[in-house]
Amino acid sequence: MVGYPISHDELIALIDEHDQAQRRRKSWKERSSEALDKLLADPSKDVPSLWSEIKPVYAHLQAGKCGFCERLIGEDDVISNEQDIEHFRPKKAVNPWPPEASVGTDPLPADIPKSKKGGAGYLRLAFHESNYLVSCKTCNARFKANYFPIRSEGHQFEAEDPAPLLSQEKPYLIHPLDENDDDPETIVGFDGFLAVPVNQSTRTVAWKRAYVTIHFFGLNDPSRQDQLLLARARRLMFLGDRLREYEAAPEAGKAAAWSAVQREYSLKIDHAGCVRAAIRLYSAGKRDEVMRAVEAAKIFYLSKTGMPTDAPPPPGP
Ligand SMILES: [Zn+2]
Repeated sequence: MVGYPISHDELIALIDEHDQAQRRRKSWKERSSEALDKLLADPSKDVPSLWSEIKPVYAHLQAGKCGFCERLIGEDDVISNEQDIEHFRPKKAVNPWPPEASVGTDPLPADIPKSKKGGAGYLRLAFHESNYLVSCKTCNARFKANYFPIRSEGHQFEAEDPAPLLSQEKPYLIHPLDENDDDPETIVGFDGFLAVPVNQSTRTVAWKRAYVTIHFFGLNDPSRQDQLLLARARRLMFLGDRLREYEAAPEAGKAAAWSAVQREYSLKIDHAGCVRAAIRLYSAGKRDEVMRAVEAAKIFYLSKTGMPTDAPPPPGP
């Protein structure tokens, strides 16, 4: 998981820009404020899902990736059915977490921190721009649903602004666009292609946030093998090739070869959190550790995909 921090003012400016591009007579902010008034007057009434209108703003900010699992889902309107605009704090109900049965294939560990209270949901944040991000349907509909685990005693369902809730509620999940929240890369790290807490001490808040986030979204769950595990393994194998090219390059070619490694450090590529962690480790002098992880990724990848029996031979002389 990686962050795309943005200030509230910058976010509002981007939404205004989007409005202007759409030639709206009334701004999104004005229309969403009216919609919120209607919703509060009668919560049982259907309200327009105005958040969908500004989905491209978030999709672009997140480089077309799911804010939670880093799958590439694209930022094009044409494929917008792949992405959900996600209410970080659920608008209509919050259920206690964890659920009775694990959502993924693996059962949740017995020592997972619990968030036992639920309630009515954050109705007043239904149209708050800081309560949104784009996520894939698996993360949103299957794993996140109406859950929002927190460390503090109770949810602040009456809140009209999510900003103070970070310190008041102490959420376990990290909002990747919130400039005041932790940088996700300092919380959720990677051991090879598997997500692990960066902070290894189980007593720390950082460890608990990572532990919950990894299990909450099934970031290592076998049910997400194709979406996440194989995709991360593939990216590590590609990085391994770039690192070997760097190591084999003559002195005159080292800079260019390292540039090829650095391109893999981009936040814009899927599963950047995993690859960036490996590059940082390599730069810190842990070359053998990185290469062992690359090898493990390759073994895992080949064990799941294998060599096609109809693969053509190499070209003749
Ligand atoms: Zn996702």
